Amino acid sequence: MMPEQLTIALSKGRIFDETLPLLAAAGITPAEDPEHSRKLIIGTNRPNVRLVIVRATDVPTYVQYGAADFGIAGKDVLTEHGGDGLYQPLDLQIAQCRMMVAVRQGFDYEQASRPGRRLRVATKYPDIAAAHFAAKGVHVDIIKLYGSMELAPLVGLSDAIVDLVSTGGTLKANRLEAVEHIADISSRLVVNQAALKTKYEWIEPIIQAFARAVSGEA
Ligand code: ADP
Ligand code: MG
Repeated sequence: MMPEQLTIALSKGRIFDETLPLLAAAGITPAEDPEHSRKLIIGTNRPNVRLVIVRATDVPTYVQYGAADFGIAGKDVLTEHGGDGLYQPLDLQIAQCRMMVAVRQGFDYEQASRPGRRLRVATKYPDIAAAHFAAKGVHVDIIKLYGSMELAPLVGLSDAIVDLVSTGGTLKANRLEAVEHIADISSRLVVNQAALKTKYEWIEPIIQAFARAVSGEA
């Protein structure tokens, strides 16, 4: 007997766009584009499959509590969240970027991160940043931000930022430069552990279809 409904948590923008081909490979087509709809619950061509559109940082929470059966979230978000109660079967290799430390062009980062100094770091990722600098033995004050990290060093809020970089265009436009690479980031499939058991016949073929699409098999 098939369970009544399958709910998939996605965020708008990059992740949604890059997930569309994967969904298509699993035979799922959204009924609407969340970019042009105010609806937070979006139906699909499959009667009992729906998408919920949530903030990228909230995807693990919806899946963890079973409000969504599975979702797609960046490694950045998963690392910061901790990944508790989530099964992470697959790196989807979408929304690829790098977690970097960046400073104002010409800023003496070497000097500022020497023993005895305290580096002020603004970031949306306080746990990732704290772990990175602790491992290097650099003392930091972390300033939590929710967006536009690039502004912080320009107005003296911080010495450095920890942020995601893909092309480097935003850094360049703001006269910042990357000085350290912390991690390679991509988006992962995250599955609610209970749902994986109770809705196995639904979820397993979707995971397989995603895996084939990621590896380039038809
Ligand atoms: P928000 O604006 O809600 O913070 P974003 O759309 O900026 O979310 O980012 C959502 C996810 O997309 C991030 O968690 C990350 O995994 C990925 N991402 C963010 N910035 C980039 C980038 N420059 N290139 C590729 N992927 C990115
Ligand atoms: Mg953003």
